[in-house]
Amino acid sequence: MINTHSHLFDTQFDADRDAVVARAMAAGVRRILMPNIDVSTIEALHRTEAAYPDYCFAMMGLHPTSVSENYKQELSCIEKMFEVHDYRAVGEIGLDLYWDQSRLSQQVDAFETQIQWSKLLELPIMIHSRNAFQQVIESVKKYADERLRGVFHSFGGTLDEAKQVLELPGFYLGINGVVTYKNGGLKEVLPFVPLNRLVIETDDPYLTPVPYRGKRNEPAYLAYISRTLSELYQVSVEEVNHITSANATLLFGR
Ligand SMILES: [Zn+2]
Repeated sequence: MINTHSHLFDTQFDADRDAVVARAMAAGVRRILMPNIDVSTIEALHRTEAAYPDYCFAMMGLHPTSVSENYKQELSCIEKMFEVHDYRAVGEIGLDLYWDQSRLSQQVDAFETQIQWSKLLELPIMIHSRNAFQQVIESVKKYADERLRGVFHSFGGTLDEAKQVLELPGFYLGINGVVTYKNGGLKEVLPFVPLNRLVIETDDPYLTPVPYRGKRNEPAYLAYISRTLSELYQVSVEEVNHITSANATLLFGR
């Protein structure tokens, strides 16, 4: 399995990160991709990547909930990081109207700026979209071409929204612990989405899958997402892992 979205560098793992990584490896997680949040998390992100070479890989970007008054300054620091470090994607980027609606125009500006970087850098984007699907897809369509590709991370939208993503070649839905929740809504949508447009993720330490819901999430729990998908698609766990890993490799490289 490839875990396409983990915040393993989060302080919640400071006390037992080696054990968390050992459990992920034992559970069959072959690789962990880590999206950045903002300038304040870069050091921990790089430190975690360096601690687990050829296993943890960093992305770089400014998360929409970190878009504040001085976001232009923050963006210019983040842009410079691409000159000195190799990243697997631009992320996580997008729009979040759940926590704060007052900065929509700044969020859109930061999002679209980073979409444009991704095309120049030839990197995929890791999209965070919360209560903002229509605005997000509008920005993506505005820049859509054969170079633009990525993941709608933590997808929990409607069938109509899923179809809009599927219309964009090179874009995948990122499925996490929400798929294991009774009222998550995904069970009605996923039968219409082919497995070759899915990648899997944990989004740890958040969105812990059943049966650990309520506790801290960790990369090893990716196995519960893969198992739920195998039940939904009526294929083996191996098949789910094989297809979603191939999708992730196509997108993020080896
Ligand atoms: Zn995230």
